[in-house]
Amino acid sequence: MEEDIVSEFDLINPTEAHSMLREMIRDFVDKSLEPQALIHDKEEKFNLELFKELGDLGLLGLTVSEKYGGSELDTISAVIIHEELSSSDPAFTLSYLAHSMLTANNLSVNGSENQKSRYLPGLCSGELIGCMAMSEPDYGTDVMGMKTTAELNSEGNWVINGNKMWITNGSIDEDGTPADIVWLYAKTGESENGRAEISTFIVEKGMQGYSVGQKIYDKLGMRASNTAELVFENCIVPPENLVGSVGGSILHMMRNLELERIALAAMSLGIARRSLHEMNNYATERSSFGKPIRAYGQIQRHISESYAEYKAMQAYVYNTARMINLESGGYRLDTDGVKLFATTAAKNIADRAIQVMGGYGYVGEYVVERLWRDSKLLEIGGGTLESHQKNMTKELFKNPDFIFK
Ligand SMILES: Cc1cc2nc3c(=O)[nH]c(=O)nc-3n(C[C@H](O)[C@H](O)[C@H](O)COP(=O)(O)OP(=O)(O)OC[C@H]3O[C@@H](n4cnc5c(N)ncnc54)[C@H](O)[C@@H]3O)c2cc1C
Repeated sequence: MEEDIVSEFDLINPTEAHSMLREMIRDFVDKSLEPQALIHDKEEKFNLELFKELGDLGLLGLTVSEKYGGSELDTISAVIIHEELSSSDPAFTLSYLAHSMLTANNLSVNGSENQKSRYLPGLCSGELIGCMAMSEPDYGTDVMGMKTTAELNSEGNWVINGNKMWITNGSIDEDGTPADIVWLYAKTGESENGRAEISTFIVEKGMQGYSVGQKIYDKLGMRASNTAELVFENCIVPPENLVGSVGGSILHMMRNLELERIALAAMSLGIARRSLHEMNNYATERSSFGKPIRAYGQIQRHISESYAEYKAMQAYVYNTARMINLESGGYRLDTDGVKLFATTAAKNIADRAIQVMGGYGYVGEYVVERLWRDSKLLEIGGGTLESHQKNMTKELFKNPDFIFK
């Protein structure tokens, strides 16, 4: 009996509901996402209209309570959605991640009742587009060095000054229209030992002093996802838009980053699977010297190594997702680990797919060149490879027994 439970356990679709969700996303990908992916990449345009359709499917607030219009799904579901969308259009998926994970989920876990009822219904329906602003022009990995400040004025409002850089969904179009909601981290003081005290603010489009500095063009990949610099110049934010306590944001910022990392690892999985699928088919269809190229050992090496790496990343991603509680966090080692492993594996698999497909692999129509370009961002955004190496080694110093778990 126990043996049955063990052998029948499906790590990637643990329940019928997960299977159905995956099927629903695949259907959306085939009908709506895939046909537009190449053109939006070429034109560097975010498909806002299609993005809003995800609201009708209940996906924009996937982890949010039904009370606010969300779907109350779990971390495995988040992984399924990011994997499936990314198998077709990683850039669109990145925008989805910034909205659903970094903004809506963050608000759902950490916001007050008033903040949740005010913003979550719009974020879940797609009426409001959200972004998360942490990085700055001079501070990325060194996030605690951030220079954006928030100070209380004599009227009891917060006055925010500073620039945020590389913000996904920071601008929603080509005209510099800002995101409707910014989940903003700013410095509100320093502790006695000189460590920054970070607070979170919800900044709304239309608030005085908040604007888009520039939409960033000419990125290597993720071109169909808008990336922008945001400017806060004496931006006035009312006291009710402070999230939690003053200076109390470091923990929730770090915890949301854990979720971001598992979602970015899931995106890597989608890229890897699609690249493997494309190279495997091509190796059967393409002949050289009178034989399908899959008969050649060097091509076999590309396919077989990619398959083995893909299965290893799949197991690590889903096993880590299974352990993550959206409310509490605390899985630093493996959320760093899974992103460290899966992002580079995805880039390597996309690279091999191009190699197997020769000249065809090098052009947009055959998809893998776009996946290869998009995959590089995953080694940088949400934490660089080097930051994962640093964090993991620190964790393993503090908790060497994790190796035996
Ligand atoms: C397309 C895109 C979308 C993004 N979306 C968002 C978003 O929505 N919101 C947001 O807040 N940010 C976003 N980012 C920013 C992203 O998170 C940062 O780019 C990333 O954290 C790295 O910061 P940085 O670019 O300043 O590089 P830096 O931190 O300056 O790093 C430069 C190099 O130095 C290395 N390095 C730095 N410190 C150390 C160290 N201690 N030890 C070893 N090596 C080190 C890094 O690993 C890297 O190789 C996005 C970035 C891009 C490109």
